[in-house]
Amino acid sequence: MKRILLITTGGTIASASTAKGLLPSINGELLVSYLPEMNSVCKLDTAEVCTIDSTDMTKNEWVGIVKKIKESYEAYDGFVISHGTDTLAFTAAALTYMIQNSKKPIVLTGSQRPITFDSTDAKVNLTDSILCAMDEKAKGILVVFNGKIIAGSRAKKTMSVSYHAFSSINYPYLGIIQNGTILWYIEPESTQKQVQFYESMNDKVFLLKLTPCTSAEMLADIFKHNDCVIIESFGSGGIPDRLTNRLIEIMKSEEGKDKLLIIATQVVYEGSHISVYEVGSRLNHKVLFLEAKDMNLETTLAKAMWICGFEGSTFEEKRDRFYTRIAADILN
Ligand code: ASP
Repeated sequence: MKRILLITTGGTIASASTAKGLLPSINGELLVSYLPEMNSVCKLDTAEVCTIDSTDMTKNEWVGIVKKIKESYEAYDGFVISHGTDTLAFTAAALTYMIQNSKKPIVLTGSQRPITFDSTDAKVNLTDSILCAMDEKAKGILVVFNGKIIAGSRAKKTMSVSYHAFSSINYPYLGIIQNGTILWYIEPESTQKQVQFYESMNDKVFLLKLTPCTSAEMLADIFKHNDCVIIESFGSGGIPDRLTNRLIEIMKSEEGKDKLLIIATQVVYEGSHISVYEVGSRLNHKVLFLEAKDMNLETTLAKAMWICGFEGSTFEEKRDRFYTRIAADILN
């Protein structure tokens, strides 16, 4: 029998109704008691990292998950992480960099309605995730939700209420799970390398979403307090003139020394193409920066936190790590 570890973190899936709204409170053993049929298909243990709404997730909880998986890696064949849906995609992206080359599956799931409710997606999502964590073809960080298997580097919450809460961004769904049967469309990318765990994620990474009203005044402060600034530009990569000029000034000054600038897009699908328009190419050859291309924002943020976690690395080292494809996170 396969040995699976269910790591619980809270979220709607583990919530109960209170006078103030849904509150995570159900532990792993209770969660598993809703799936008695799983006892005959695998040996399922549980471990708790936290019991919080995923709104309150930080990199400390990510490190808690990584430590738990690292210490029990040899003892289990696969891992399932139950998680609130709101920041599940951020955790999936972070784990993509914090646990690399894992031949064992690490599956994140959650639900839109608590497991205690009569009508709930929790039981099917948990069951599917456990089955996926037992599957020979599954490996690395995966998200299983509403019958879909998504690469951890590509997941995004795109529905706030409906059961089909997650989409795969700029990459095909890896597979589907129907009535307990897994149909793989593409197998997760494999590698001969040894599993590697990283715990150092730099959280001085700022994500700035541009609007037609964004003022250039705040830019210097943002750079002062952060090691990396990701700009969610318009469309293919448009940045207003007033901001471009200030960005160039800052990046060339003391304030911008050793700071990493990444241009991403606020458009969900099809990525950035910064040089297509003049309003994007104004930065070219004036300052050093990276482009998120087809990576989604959660992944861009997590990868920036990971590459900025290597102390003293040069722009070239950061650039090489950023553009190196890890677990299908970037296509070009
Ligand atoms: N607010 C909840 C959370 O992210 C939502 C959910 O789990 O669906 O923890």
